[in-house]
Amino acid sequence: MNQSPKTVWRMARFVEKQLGSLRGETNTGLPEAAWLSCLRLVRMRQQAQERGWFRAATKVERELNSEVFQLMRQLVTLQQELESASAEKLVPAIRTIYEDLLALEEEFGQYSIDLKNKTISVVTESIVLEGVYLGAFEIRLELATLDSDTPFQYQVFAQDPQPPITDDAVTHPHVQSDNVCEGDARMPIRRALEQGRLLDFFVLVSRLLRTYNPESPYIALSDWHSAECSECADVVTTEDQTHCTHCENRLCRECANRCVDCESSYCHDCVTRCEICRDDCCESCLKECALCCSNCCSNCLDNEERCSICETQEDEETYEPDQDITSSETVSPAGTPL
Ligand SMILES: [Zn+2]
Ligand SMILES: [Zn+2]
Ligand SMILES: [Zn+2]
Ligand SMILES: [Zn+2]
Ligand SMILES: [Zn+2]
Repeated sequence: MNQSPKTVWRMARFVEKQLGSLRGETNTGLPEAAWLSCLRLVRMRQQAQERGWFRAATKVERELNSEVFQLMRQLVTLQQELESASAEKLVPAIRTIYEDLLALEEEFGQYSIDLKNKTISVVTESIVLEGVYLGAFEIRLELATLDSDTPFQYQVFAQDPQPPITDDAVTHPHVQSDNVCEGDARMPIRRALEQGRLLDFFVLVSRLLRTYNPESPYIALSDWHSAECSECADVVTTEDQTHCTHCENRLCRECANRCVDCESSYCHDCVTRCEICRDDCCESCLKECALCCSNCCSNCLDNEERCSICETQEDEETYEPDQDITSSETVSPAGTPL
């Protein structure tokens, strides 16, 4: 989207203001607590010496020694921070920020400035890494809140999310829950933000998205479309995977046990069986036989809720009273036409 020069200028002014306030933040934090503790120990040492408590005085001296060392360390750290702050955080002139923002439009076709929410976004081209299509990504820089770690927060949103088979929160080998794992690019990105080099920032992040580092992905590209079956450890692809309806474990087609009634898939541990025909049947589809209380699939129950065994027995008793009850084989063909 084309931004009006006025909008771009107002955003540039806001960025300048934010960076300016960031610069002042490091100047705080003198080691007051350590200093006060040293003062207290010096007084204690003096008192002990005046009263002739030499052992106590020696003990206090040791404490004082380590406390002075702490104070020194804190002062050195503070001095280093101040030094790097003045070296790194030269706030660029508003003109430079403005020109950077204009250049974004040339570098990235899709770019937008949201003055209300104080965000700047660009959209990358569609990204394919090692043959795996990942779609385009929006890089959104949030300027409203300042952060001590990196001056501004940013997130990366997949425009056409293509998560790997194993994790929906991952949209890119180096992006999880819309946050980028920056790796070696961390410092350059941080510097670019601290110094208000917005064009450099967006170029760095988009380059990161177009690069695959096989050393440290959330999910390796080679595993993007395949994973292991939790039962047989065979490789399953996105197309032929199923999940256990109960525990949600991933299953290959061979390891999925299908309920004869509702056809849901179950893993070995979660599937239950009909006690009459021994077919796989899930717990919610099993029904008790009204007579013997066996758990049955619907195929094994008649319309009076009797299992096939009880049905046969009852039929024998009702219709064939003269025949030998134990010879059920000769009886059942006579009973079936019912
Ligand atoms: Zn399997
Ligand atoms: Zn299961
Ligand atoms: Zn079922
Ligand atoms: Zn059955
Ligand atoms: Zn029964």
